Amino acid sequence: MCIFCDIVEGKIPSTKVYEDEYVIAIRDLNPQAPVHDLVIPKKHFDNIVDLAAADDGTYSAAVIDAIAEVAKAEGIDEGFRVINNCGADAGQSVMHVHFHVIGGRKFEEKII
Ligand code: 5GP
Ligand code: ZN
Repeated sequence: MCIFCDIVEGKIPSTKVYEDEYVIAIRDLNPQAPVHDLVIPKKHFDNIVDLAAADDGTYSAAVIDAIAEVAKAEGIDEGFRVINNCGADAGQSVMHVHFHVIGGRKFEEKII
């Protein structure tokens, strides 16, 4: 049982901003900026370490392409942040790898 697998399968509703064979991107339920989307591989990987180990590169490449497509579709491709929380200590709350695409406002120079 994984909420992002359920979202991928359409069992839980979401607002999709991008989809291809390998990846979906949805609006975050609790946005931290004017644009806050989540790029989610359609196949379950626990985190980025699992993705790197278990994938032959197909999903990893699709994620990068999807991030760029989402940024363009949202009109933020001139400036945005990509965040991946890996593991509970980093604040990962959904244990299905996903990449936050955040923008629509100016960020401070400090990353955190
Ligand atoms: P994490 O903390 O794991 O890096 O990020 C999980 C993100 O998923 C959070 O930003 C949270 O708001 C979002 N989220 C959790 N449940 C749902 C949901 O059911 N639908 C959507 N669209 N976002 C969710
Ligand atoms: Zn999952």
